[in-house]
Amino acid sequence: MGRFCHGSHIALTFTMNVSTPPFSAYTKDNPLPATLQENRVLNKDGSSKDTRHLVINIAGSGLTYSVGDSLGVYASNRPQIVEEIIALLGATGNEPVMPPRFSAPISLREALTTKLSLASPTKRALETFAAKTTQPKEQATLAELLAPGPGADALRETFLGQREFIDLLEEFPGAKLSPQELVDLMRRLMPRLYSIASSPKLHPREVHLTVAPVRYESNGRRRYGVCSTFLADRATRRKTPIPVFVAESHFGLPTDLSRDIIMVGPGTGIAPFRAFVQERIATGATGRNWLFFGDQHQATDYLYGDEWKRFLAEGKMARVDLAFSRDQPQKIYVQDRIRENAAELWAWLKGGAHFYVCGDAHRMAKDVDAALHQVVGEQGGLDTEQAAAFVKQLKKDQRYQRDVY
Ligand code: NAP
Repeated sequence: MGRFCHGSHIALTFTMNVSTPPFSAYTKDNPLPATLQENRVLNKDGSSKDTRHLVINIAGSGLTYSVGDSLGVYASNRPQIVEEIIALLGATGNEPVMPPRFSAPISLREALTTKLSLASPTKRALETFAAKTTQPKEQATLAELLAPGPGADALRETFLGQREFIDLLEEFPGAKLSPQELVDLMRRLMPRLYSIASSPKLHPREVHLTVAPVRYESNGRRRYGVCSTFLADRATRRKTPIPVFVAESHFGLPTDLSRDIIMVGPGTGIAPFRAFVQERIATGATGRNWLFFGDQHQATDYLYGDEWKRFLAEGKMARVDLAFSRDQPQKIYVQDRIRENAAELWAWLKGGAHFYVCGDAHRMAKDVDAALHQVVGEQGGLDTEQAAAFVKQLKKDQRYQRDVY
């Protein structure tokens, strides 16, 4: 028998069958207040990248995870931006507001800190500012952005793409929105999901993440990715509660431990493969492990390089093929290494290997997919259609899996 306490302290009792997976009281709706145990920059001095190895402490919580799962994290917005918005509204922060789908009011400061997304204003926000402003100059700018036709659509898309709510409050002070009027324009702050970089077999009390804090500039302002900088900059070690939950995934290892696996994970895409290899070692899997990894420079950006070198030396990795894009005049990417090793890769696939890709969805995963089709076509003597059918079958058999973002 087990006891399960839900968020609202309702206790339920259930019978646990031996085949039932371990159960945790912590869910998306009732996240575990975990803490940060370690926050280490993986890149070496001189790198232009900032990639963090984060260790989240889940000891004693009952929270369990499997390799391939993601950790959902509820972040808080930057306090400086929250205070600036409150000041621009001419508010104190104590005003009661109702965020979307709330049934009782909370303070404006709390809503802006933990419940609302301060980014990505929409056309509706511009319409509200246009309806409210009394300033002719602001009215003219907003009218131009809201005019019908493709010209204004494009202009508006660019304008909104470079702005967050704080920019609109600064640029259109004549609108004088009330706290609730602003809140009504904002979306809920959603949790962010990060691929887990550890195996529970090796680290049952910890969840490891590989996170690149997002920082950039737009419209003359420094911008910060909400969750990545919450974890990297604002979560004080062992103190700040980090609300987390485990998001199960379709992405996972073959149950047959004798199967070979091929993993393609440049940049932060390396995360689940560190977990995969830890798990394969812990379970005594006999299948071979082949990793393709890439980043800017070998000297500074070989993420978990010492671990891969050690596993290779110990025979726990069959192959690690590296693509450092900026160590030579021409770019070299993971898909170039895949093409260079076409015959071997084809032999692994014919032998039943599973092929995994993790990382950037927009360019890398598409290019790797094209390289896979090319290898299959050329090595298998298949035409374009047959190669596509082969890859489709791999997917159907769960032998080609992607975790891309
Ligand atoms: P990353 O810096 O984007 O890339 C890692 C490696 O992949 C670099 O060597 C990069 O080379 C290379 N690369 C670039 N284009 C490629 C392509 N078409 N095919 C294969 N490899 C390619 O990876 P990261 O460290 O994971 O991410 C760093 C930053 O990018 C973060 O701020 C992250 O948030 C952002 N990012 C965003 C998304 C997204 O929003 N969808 C996805 C991934 C990463 P070069 O840079 O030398 O060209």
